[in-house]
Amino acid sequence: MRVSRLFAPTLRETPAEAEIISHQLMLRAGFIRKAAGGIYSYLPLAWRVLKKIETIVREEMDAKGGQELAMPVIQPAEMWQETGRWSVYGEEMFRLKDRHNRNFCLGPTHEEMITTLVRGEVRSYRQLPLLLYQIQNKYRDEIRPRFGLMRGREFIMKDLYSFDRDEAGLDQSYKKMYDAYTRIFTRCGLTFRAVEADSGAIGGSGSHEFMVLAESGEAAISYCGSCDYAANVEKAELQPVQAQAEECLPLTEKATPGTKSIADVSQYLGVGPERTIKTLAYRTDTGSVVLALVRGDHEVNEIKLLNQVGCLQLDMANDEAIAGILQSHAGYIGPVGLDGSENVIIVADATVMNMYNAVCGANKRDLHYSNVNPSRDFKPAIIADIRLIQANDPCPRCGEPVKTARGIEVGQVFKLFTKYSTALQATFIGEDGKERPIVMGCYGVGVSRTMAAAVEQNYDQHGIIWPVPIAPYQAVVIPVSSKDEAQTAWAEKIYGELCAQGVEALLDDRNERPGVKFKDADLIGYPLKVTIGPKTISENLIEVKVRRTGETLYFSPEDYLEGIR
Ligand code: ATP
Ligand code: MG
Ligand code: MG
Ligand code: MG
Repeated sequence: MRVSRLFAPTLRETPAEAEIISHQLMLRAGFIRKAAGGIYSYLPLAWRVLKKIETIVREEMDAKGGQELAMPVIQPAEMWQETGRWSVYGEEMFRLKDRHNRNFCLGPTHEEMITTLVRGEVRSYRQLPLLLYQIQNKYRDEIRPRFGLMRGREFIMKDLYSFDRDEAGLDQSYKKMYDAYTRIFTRCGLTFRAVEADSGAIGGSGSHEFMVLAESGEAAISYCGSCDYAANVEKAELQPVQAQAEECLPLTEKATPGTKSIADVSQYLGVGPERTIKTLAYRTDTGSVVLALVRGDHEVNEIKLLNQVGCLQLDMANDEAIAGILQSHAGYIGPVGLDGSENVIIVADATVMNMYNAVCGANKRDLHYSNVNPSRDFKPAIIADIRLIQANDPCPRCGEPVKTARGIEVGQVFKLFTKYSTALQATFIGEDGKERPIVMGCYGVGVSRTMAAAVEQNYDQHGIIWPVPIAPYQAVVIPVSSKDEAQTAWAEKIYGELCAQGVEALLDDRNERPGVKFKDADLIGYPLKVTIGPKTISENLIEVKVRRTGETLYFSPEDYLEGIR
C-alpha cells in the first residue's frame, strides 16, 4: 500500500470531545470516525488491527475445539421473554418493531439465541460437549457511551458458549477458555491480569475478568504479589472491621412499601430506565438478602451503608437473580441517602430492616415495611462492619499486604450452570436415560475494546506504539526527499522486497516534507520506520528506526531484511 492512496486522515489537533488517550490518538491518527455517540466507523488502519485481534482470538478458540458460527443480530422478543430478560434488561437494550408490530432487539449478548438454537438440535449426551462461538457486533445502549471504542454502543465481541453434560465438564470448558484468554491477551502483546469477578467467600469463583492494566481503566482491582490472589475490588472479599453506630445517618421519611420490580424502583426514583441505577446484592449473616440500588456514582456511600448493617456482598452478577430477589424479598423501598441526597435506596426483608434500625439507633425515623410485625423487639447490638479491600490490607489468601491497580475489562469468562438451559428447556438425555438441563458457560472478548486498551497501554507523546502482533502494518518505508530520484528508486526497491518477503509494509510516496512523513508514522505507530536518505545513496546504508525503543539501526541492503526480523 502507498501512503498517497491510504485512507487514513490524520488530524493535527486533539479533538475536544476525546477524554482518554486511546480515543484521542485513534481519532488523530485516522483510525476511527464518529457517526453518533458510541457508534464509530473503523477506517482501514483500525480494521486491519481488528482483523489481527480477531485472527488471534479465532486461532485460540479453534485450538480449544471451538466452532465458529454466526447468529442473527436481530433477535425476537419471545426468547428473551422466556428467560425474563426482556423486562429486566432495561434501556441498555436496543429495541425495534417490525411492520407487523412484533418486538425485536439488537443482540446485546446471545445466551437466549444460542440456547434456543441448541435446544432444538441437541438431544443426547453423545452430542456434548459443544463449544460454539461467533465474532460479531453487539449492541448496548450504554448510559454513558464515552471514551471512544472503550464503551461503545455498537462494538465487536467474540462470544463463546459452552454446553456440557455436568459441572465437571463445565469446569473443563471453563479452564480451556481461561487458558485461551490468557494466550489471546499475551499474543496481543498486552500487560493484563485475570481477576476473580465474584466474591470467593460465597460459592467459589464462577467468573474471571481479564483486565488490561491502565490508569484510565474503569475498574479497580486488588492483587497479591506473594500468591495468586487477584480480584475485582467491587467484588473482592470484604474486610471485617468494628462497627461505628454513630456513623449512621438518618433515614429520610419517604418510602413506598411493596414495590416489586426494578422498573417500579426506577420509576420511584424518578430515574426512568432501570439501567440508570446500579444494583448490588448482599447477604446478611442471618441469611436475609438485601438489594441495594444506587443512582449515579454513589456506590461508595452505598457500600458503607450496607457495611454498617452487617451485610456480606453476594455474588449477583445477573439481572434475573436481582429481579428474583426483588420479587421474593421486597419488604421496604425507600431512600436512605447517607447525606440525605436520596441517592441510595434499599430493598430488603424485615430482618435486614430490623438490623438497619438497630444500627441507626436514636437517629432513626419512621420506617415503612410491608408485613412487619410492629411489636417486634429490635436488638441494637449485632453489627460487624465490613468494607471493600484496600491497598495494604492483608491478602485474604496468604495474609501479605495486597496491592491495588486500575484495569480495563477486555474479557470475561462465566459459569452459567443451568440458568438458561432451565429457563429455555434445553435438556438432553444422559447416559442413564434421564433428562437433564445442559450445563452452560459463556465467555466474551471485547475485540474493539481490546484495540483501545492496547493504545492505552502503548503510546508516547508522539503517538501510538502498536505491539507488533496487532500493528496495522509492520513497517513504513520513507524516502527522505520525494524529489530525489535515487532515493525514490531505492525506496521502491526496498518496499517491493519487503512485500515480497511477507512483511506488511507501506511506502510513503507522498510529496511531503520529511517531518510530516515521520510525524505521521509516529502518530500512527508503525513498529518500524525504514528510512531511505542520503546515507543510503552515499554509504549504502538503510536506516531502521524502532518505534518502541527509539533505537536507530543501520543495515546494508543485503542484510536489512534479516535485521528487521
Ligand atoms: P462493562 O463492565 O465494561 O460494562 P460488561 O461486563 O458489561 O462490560 P460483558 O457482558 O462481560 O461486558 O461482555 C464481554 C466483553 O465485551 C467485556 O469484557 C468487554 O471487553 C466487552 N464490552 C462490554 N461492553 C462493551 C462496550 N460498551 N463497548 C466495548 N466493549 C464492551
Ligand atoms: Mg456493561
Ligand atoms: Mg463488567
Ligand atoms: Mg463483564
